[in-house]
Amino acid sequence: MPIPVQPARTSGRKLSLSTLLITLVTLVAVMTTTIVLAASYQSKRKSLVETTLNLNLANAERMSLTADSLFRSMRSSLLYSAKIISGMKPVQHAEISAYLELMRNSSNYFNSVILAGPDGEVLNSSPETLDLDGKRLTSPAALEALRLKKSYISPPYVSATTGKLLVFMSEPLFDKKGLYLGQLGGSIYLQDYNILSMIYGNSNIDDSGSYFFVVSEEGHLVFHPDQSRLNEDVSANPFVQKLMRGESGRMEALNLSGADMLAGYSGVPSSGWGVAVVSPVSVIQEQINGHLRKIAGLMLLPFALLLISVIILAHRLAYPFAALANLVSRFGKEDVALPQLKPHWNREVDLLTKALSLAWKDIQQQTDQLTQEAMTDQLTGLANRRGMEWSANQWISAGVPFSLIVLDIDKFKFVNDNYGHLAGDEVLRWVGSIIAESVRPGDICCRFGGEEFVVLLPRARNALAAAERIRSTLDQRKGPLQLRVTSSLGIAHFPVHGETLEELLGSADEALYTAKRKGRNCTVVAGNEA
Ligand code: GH3
Ligand code: MG
Ligand code: MG
Repeated sequence: MPIPVQPARTSGRKLSLSTLLITLVTLVAVMTTTIVLAASYQSKRKSLVETTLNLNLANAERMSLTADSLFRSMRSSLLYSAKIISGMKPVQHAEISAYLELMRNSSNYFNSVILAGPDGEVLNSSPETLDLDGKRLTSPAALEALRLKKSYISPPYVSATTGKLLVFMSEPLFDKKGLYLGQLGGSIYLQDYNILSMIYGNSNIDDSGSYFFVVSEEGHLVFHPDQSRLNEDVSANPFVQKLMRGESGRMEALNLSGADMLAGYSGVPSSGWGVAVVSPVSVIQEQINGHLRKIAGLMLLPFALLLISVIILAHRLAYPFAALANLVSRFGKEDVALPQLKPHWNREVDLLTKALSLAWKDIQQQTDQLTQEAMTDQLTGLANRRGMEWSANQWISAGVPFSLIVLDIDKFKFVNDNYGHLAGDEVLRWVGSIIAESVRPGDICCRFGGEEFVVLLPRARNALAAAERIRSTLDQRKGPLQLRVTSSLGIAHFPVHGETLEELLGSADEALYTAKRKGRNCTVVAGNEA
């Protein structure tokens, strides 16, 4: 049963092996890069966040420690001065003023210093330019300090007399009997050059965009790189809230403007304030992006090398397939000899090459056999008409001169009619063998059809002598069943008697016909019919 052959699909482009391999490798490379970049993004971000948080916390702790010892020094300075002043008489007004002036200028702790009586009247003040002496303190912070009669630090507030944003720190004064004498207080002008800006510096934003700020117990900004934000209520900020609860720590959170921040924060126990050191995550993002670009850059060269190798490999792999396909497609159309097929390093290509080589030899053998059979006369084993035509046409197209002998058995019908068809076949076989043994190698003998034979001889041979040799041998020898077999022959020469095979056969036939007419058992050369 014949196997149904699928019609070859011609529509649509076929995917070549190289395209396939290159696409695959590109896909793998892109996916690997993506995974590597994603993984390194995650780990880099985690480590940067961790480092930044730790750094910020360490800075916040260091700064809060500094602030704490500063506040303690300020407080002990106030306390010591309060003790000195409480031992002085109010009449020593000039000495007290001088002391306050010395206190203010020697330490830089306070922008201004005042001594107030128990009723809030300013007894002495420094600097004198404030012109407060004799006036009554009215600010809620001062009144609170007088009411408490204790160590006191105020939240930031705007002074009614100076209009400045300040923080007020004070200590009570008592005489030897414990009678309350008033408060000795110092103010820090938050917007002016003060002790805080002196220890923390004026610009506290570093190259990485990190900065710090200080908040009061109530969550108001006491120190911030943006002066205009001083006293702003930032208590809604998540890490300010932690500071207000007195906690220290580190966290990633959105600040009040919605920016993602990495904060380290630490409280200042002596004042209830808190210090926060913060870095915007966007800065880290920049660093991560730089890192990723570096990794991508590093992967570019290996990827390019890989791609080039794959392109070369793909071509080397695909080439033998294309070559074999080309070879097979030419098979049968033209006379191609199987080229020397070398062993291939790729197993599949090698197997295919070997299989093709075997199949090729097999087909070649079968084709040769079929061709042989197709050109051979089954009865006599001589060439048949197709075989003769093939040889004759080759000589004609090559322009090789040759002679053509046509032989017809005389009265053959008689043999068939009297001895039977099988005896007739026997006679035909015998005539074939006589013709074959009468010619020389290189001459071509064929059974043209029925009881007619044709012999082709290169022109160099004497065709008439050959024809006569055949005729006389047939005549002299006894054939099968002791029969006498005679024949008539016609000879034509190429290209003298015809330029095509038909013309040549026509000429030889005419000569043969003449031989028959002359009484048979003779040979006539074309052109000699008369
Ligand atoms: P002539 O001398 O004029 O050639 O007479 P002839 O009898 O040979 O010529 P004719 O053409 O009348 O007869 C040829 C005969 O050859 C007819 C046919 O039966 C016989 N023949 C043709 N092919 C074969 C064959 O393959 N085998 C046998 N046995 N006979 C064949
Ligand atoms: Mg005949
Ligand atoms: Mg005949």
